[in-house]
Amino acid sequence: MYSKIEFKKILEKAKEGVEISSQEAIVLLSSREPENLDLLKNTANFLRGQQAGESISYVINRNINFTNICEQHCNFCAFRRDAQDQEAFFLESDQILEKAQSALAIGATEICMQGGLNPNAKLEGKSLNYYLNLVSILKDNYPQLHLHAFSPQEIEFIAREDGITYKDVLIELKAVGLGSLPGTAAEILTERVRKIICPEKINSQIWLEIITLAHSLGLPTTSTMLCGHIETVQEQVEHLEKLRCLQKKAIAENHPARITEFILLPFVGQNAPSMLRKRVDRDQPILEDCLILTAVARIYLGNVISNHQPSWVKLGLSGAMQALEWGCNDLGGTLMEEHITSMAGAIGGGSLEVEQLQKAISSIGRPYQQRTTLYEYLSQHELECSGSLKL
Ligand code: SF4
Repeated sequence: MYSKIEFKKILEKAKEGVEISSQEAIVLLSSREPENLDLLKNTANFLRGQQAGESISYVINRNINFTNICEQHCNFCAFRRDAQDQEAFFLESDQILEKAQSALAIGATEICMQGGLNPNAKLEGKSLNYYLNLVSILKDNYPQLHLHAFSPQEIEFIAREDGITYKDVLIELKAVGLGSLPGTAAEILTERVRKIICPEKINSQIWLEIITLAHSLGLPTTSTMLCGHIETVQEQVEHLEKLRCLQKKAIAENHPARITEFILLPFVGQNAPSMLRKRVDRDQPILEDCLILTAVARIYLGNVISNHQPSWVKLGLSGAMQALEWGCNDLGGTLMEEHITSMAGAIGGGSLEVEQLQKAISSIGRPYQQRTTLYEYLSQHELECSGSLKL
């Protein structure tokens, strides 16, 4: 049991820029004392200012989920369908291009694309050909859009279907224009949790291997954590530790790309499969738990991963705005459509206008700044040229 003085000492150490240990992170996550929570929030907010500055960034992007047909059955997923299900979909190329065109019309700089693991997604008998075609049609028609696509699980799926290496898949996708990878499918990077919530998914080791490989090949990635289900605080910290080690290794080995941001994804149980829903017994995330974990993630990772983003889809815009005071410096993207979490019963909706993001940021007295996927901040001139300067 740690005293208030020891709690404070951990935070003082963090404020001086010293890494906190896993044990210390567990202490921070375990207290619900109002006085301690105030100190935790203030420290995370202070470090956010030091590590990422005062502006809150956002990206104008569009989500495209090209299919919900999936061979796996993750116990938190309300999105997947079997091919014969009435609600199954598998978008055609022209539908994807139409979505990209409408994204450009609002000044988007990014397409974020992910889908179910559909064994029928093949061209000339190869999964890789299907995915290469997806990237090519977008990049050939809209070379100015950054393509942020395919989780490590999707990379493993393509490699497994075609009997090739992860490296081959990444090299080929990069060659036709893939810009970066979402660090989704991480869920919680411990085997006990994965065996329960996503037993068919790649294990932690493979997730870490594919992310590291992407960095070594010059493909940046994001990083995520699916929290608030059956994981313990020890497992949350184990997850953060794996991300911190991976990023430190990328820095030490001078990889051409790194993790660009950390995104906390709280579990939404409302329409999740019954096994996990019954076990968690809660429809929506507990905001206080999310904010505490947001602050600890900033303190634990901020020295090496400076950009932290809450999920307005999962927390609602008001919850995400609170997270901006607990260590986050980015409000994410416009998305335009979101299916994966919305189908799980999330309260935040699937689309926000640029003006809504800007007004939300201004309402807490902070400046906003449009960014690209890779956290390059767009200048006034570039904004005027892209037509996305709103206020
Ligand atoms: S989370 Fe992804 S891999 Fe798991 S069932 Fe849903 S779509 Fe499939």
